[in-house]
Amino acid sequence: VKTITNTPRVVIVGAGFGGLAAARALRGKPVDVLIIDRHNYHTFLPLLYEVATAGLEPDDIAQPVRAIVRGARNVRFRMAEARGVDLEARCVMTDTGALPYDYLVLSPGSVTNFFGLASVEERALSMKDLRDATAVRNHVLRNFERASIEQDARERDRLMTMVVVGGGPTGVELAGALAELKRHVLPHDYPDLDISRARVILLEALDSVLVSMPPRLQRKATEQLRALGVEVRFSAAVAEVTDAGVTMKDGSGIDAATVVWVAGVRGEALGAALGVGTERGGRVRVTASLQLAGRTEVYVIGDLAHAEAGDGTPYPMVAPAAMQQAEVAAANILRDLRGEVPQTFRYKDRGTMATVGRRMAVAHVFGLQFTGLVAWVLWLTLHLIQLVGLRNRAIVLVNWIWNYFRYDRANRLVTDVGGGRSEIGGGER
Ligand SMILES: Cc1cc2nc3c(=O)[nH]c(=O)nc-3n(C[C@H](O)[C@H](O)[C@H](O)COP(=O)(O)OP(=O)(O)OC[C@H]3O[C@@H](n4cnc5c(N)ncnc54)[C@H](O)[C@@H]3O)c2cc1C
Repeated sequence: VKTITNTPRVVIVGAGFGGLAAARALRGKPVDVLIIDRHNYHTFLPLLYEVATAGLEPDDIAQPVRAIVRGARNVRFRMAEARGVDLEARCVMTDTGALPYDYLVLSPGSVTNFFGLASVEERALSMKDLRDATAVRNHVLRNFERASIEQDARERDRLMTMVVVGGGPTGVELAGALAELKRHVLPHDYPDLDISRARVILLEALDSVLVSMPPRLQRKATEQLRALGVEVRFSAAVAEVTDAGVTMKDGSGIDAATVVWVAGVRGEALGAALGVGTERGGRVRVTASLQLAGRTEVYVIGDLAHAEAGDGTPYPMVAPAAMQQAEVAAANILRDLRGEVPQTFRYKDRGTMATVGRRMAVAHVFGLQFTGLVAWVLWLTLHLIQLVGLRNRAIVLVNWIWNYFRYDRANRLVTDVGGGRSEIGGGER
């Protein structure tokens, strides 16, 4: 990469919520910024479930990083995968060569946590990037195609059974959207199938969905899911995913051809590759000012960072935390250049929300609780504002209006012709 000037070089790993916010905060400042990502695009993960359920296209929720940084004279992009960091030599090792840095901001996010369950990792679908979401869409739709020609009634039911494991926001949103697909779209697409036999099952190992929300909203979200026809099961811990479906820890089983695992995430492998040890969940411990202890030029932010709140608990793995940390890391780099002491990170929690379906959502924002239509409109507005790219916003808005008034989910292409080797889904990714 051509060095633009002799000014200090900041390498940012990851063009997700944290990495992009760091680049934005350093734009026009006296540093040269190189942002790298293994993808050449930024993904708006909160809308991933809509891609998985045929509501949106992958392109609608992603934006090329080069388009985002265009116009920022001191910011460059390289499509590269970081494999490790030589902390001594101050170099990021990538598949495109070694990249020297004066300051390093690591924001590579997280990966699906299979909690050591090999059969789940092998066979279940997950929801961490666009490829995963497209695989879910292809898999679900292909199973309905198969069901439409299946003679055996039991196998036909299995092909139409979709299990979502994990009752966090992604699991709730995915299960709700699959239930709406079943209710409003599939009966018209498959007039020869008895779609009432299709099932959407949400399994949660604890005794509630959305555990980070107030109990009233947890109950409300469960009611909304059940009203949509989702079978919500609590204290339901998965032991294994087999060719037939899911086996629970209590020995019972569910015949299902689709199993999507959204039960948790852990820090990206780059964290462990740093060689400084990791905390629970594979996250890298940082100081209150988000630096590696003894390596003040290295910042870790976002899902990978184990930064502790006053009570000793790590901050949640959510987009606002990553973006707020990015701003503090960028500010601290500039303070260091001016010879000033770094500032301490404090998370401003403005709340959380999850949507379940049409006019159904729960929101806990600024200490207030909303449900139903108000929460749903709040959710739609906030996500539309935060989506990167004017064109994406316009397309998503048009899709939402179309889907709302037509009771449709318009993007129902099976795009991996020749795929679909595995009955459960692992082979399609
Ligand atoms: C399906 C889903 C829905 C979500 N919904 C919400 C929501 O509604 N609200 C909310 O607040 N949070 C939500 N989250 C969580 C939120 O997306 C994360 O907390 C946030 O993205 C973390 O930001 P980050 O910068 O740490 O990582 P990310 O935004 O994940 O970005 C990481 C980037 O690094 C790249 N990368 C990773 N490893 C490497 C490597 N070795 N080399 C090069 N590049 C690499 C990746 O390609 C990616 O672009 C959701 C997450 C998922 C998976």
